[in-house]
Amino acid sequence: MAGFTWLRRPRVDTVLPVDRAHGHAKKNLIVLHQTISPDVKGIGDVSGVGHYLDTVGYGIHIITDVEGKSGAVPVAYEDAIFYHASSGSLDVNTRGIGIEQVSYKTGDPKYWWKRAKQLHKTARWCAYLCKTYGIPAVYDPSCKAGIVGHADVTKAGNVIGGHTDCTYPNYPTKWVAAAAKTYMKVGWA
Ligand SMILES: [Zn+2]
Repeated sequence: MAGFTWLRRPRVDTVLPVDRAHGHAKKNLIVLHQTISPDVKGIGDVSGVGHYLDTVGYGIHIITDVEGKSGAVPVAYEDAIFYHASSGSLDVNTRGIGIEQVSYKTGDPKYWWKRAKQLHKTARWCAYLCKTYGIPAVYDPSCKAGIVGHADVTKAGNVIGGHTDCTYPNYPTKWVAAAAKTYMKVGWA
């Protein structure tokens, strides 16, 4: 008996705006994004991105940064519909929970291994959301059900001029899904 473990909600350092929500819907997908914006010490990089998206009419459920801090909407809005990924007929904004990661896009796979705290925090959010909403903790580039990068949505949905953030394997989507699965089993302190 390894002891009692549970999956609490990851720590929220700043609450994200919800006024751009378009109702609520059942979720079966987590879409990972990169903001393409600078790291700033403290929570300013997270709250700044949340405020910016709100200002331009978009929204996002979760944001993580290089220090392992996170912003999130209130629990009641975790299943809200926010516009964060064009997806054609895939209807990803309805089915998907979005996680923005403050970061730059780079072709260097080593970039992400210098941001371990952020990857772990993103994986913890995935674990919590997968368990709470019954989303499979697997990388599914077809975007049917599981964890994907925005680039996978663009490709699977044939979105012309769509975004290519979190392109696998420059972004370690498979690692995040595997870590989420482990966190679902063991929880965290
Ligand atoms: Zn994106």
